[in-house]
Amino acid sequence: MSTQETYKTKVKELLSSGKVKMVIGYKAGTTADRRRPHFMRTPEEVDQLVLDSACITNLSGYLLSEGLLSDGKEIAVFLKPDGIRSINILAAEAQLQSNQVVVLGFDINGSEISALQGERASDFQALTSSSNEARLHKQQHPESARLEQMTPAERFAYWEDAFSRCIKCYACRQACPMCYCRRCIVDNNQPQWVNTSSHTLGNFEWNIVRAFHLAGRCVECGNCGRACPVNIPLGLLNMKMTDEVLQSFNHYPGVSETQEPVLASFKKNDSETFIL
Ligand code: SF4
Ligand code: SF4
Repeated sequence: MSTQETYKTKVKELLSSGKVKMVIGYKAGTTADRRRPHFMRTPEEVDQLVLDSACITNLSGYLLSEGLLSDGKEIAVFLKPDGIRSINILAAEAQLQSNQVVVLGFDINGSEISALQGERASDFQALTSSSNEARLHKQQHPESARLEQMTPAERFAYWEDAFSRCIKCYACRQACPMCYCRRCIVDNNQPQWVNTSSHTLGNFEWNIVRAFHLAGRCVECGNCGRACPVNIPLGLLNMKMTDEVLQSFNHYPGVSETQEPVLASFKKNDSETFIL
């Protein structure tokens, strides 16, 4: 039986037994290579469930929809390793109770889909056990390595050009499971902290503020980059921040729900290279 069929059986059991009130998965999208979220409340709706290599969106952010978890009932959600890490972060940041989330874990290898064994985010610790060396993008990712080779002036020009395309639509924020504030700082106009106009200064402010806000929290799911209508390489910025946090603080986000937030905690042996 394929992983998709195995999971269809499991989801039907979860819904018909009443263990969960909803299952969040994927169904066919607007084109053959796209998938959209599928919110299943009855076993009949499971027939539309799709689980294949196009199921790349991190669905964890839907759990934070207003009031969804407030009744204490459980919800199951399909998650790749990045999504499982985001559950740990959201639990660490008191945005959800992980015991309300049944994880239907899977991974994609080319066109192959495999099921991950476990039920709660804490069951998947083996997924986060890679060495820091293996996690560094500047060594393994060609585009990240290319940016590392640039001079600061070349890098600045690269980002100036990329950010010049930003239209301040905030789709990156809306798509990000880690951007859950009910009112974002950029929506404030009394006082206005970040310029809302789509010009060089405002675009730099917005994208840099967001990158710092995600430092040590981004799980690199790619939701933001895929949502950006003008193809700004947001993933590259996130990779850079992930590498910096990893090297400076030995912190890889989302390994457990007891992990301390890196920029909201202090250790005596923290790197202080930024203090002149
Ligand atoms: S910043 Fe982008 S890649 Fe990182 S968690 Fe948010 S959506 Fe995913
Ligand atoms: S999605 Fe792209 S264009 Fe829209 S605000 Fe984010 S970076 Fe700018």
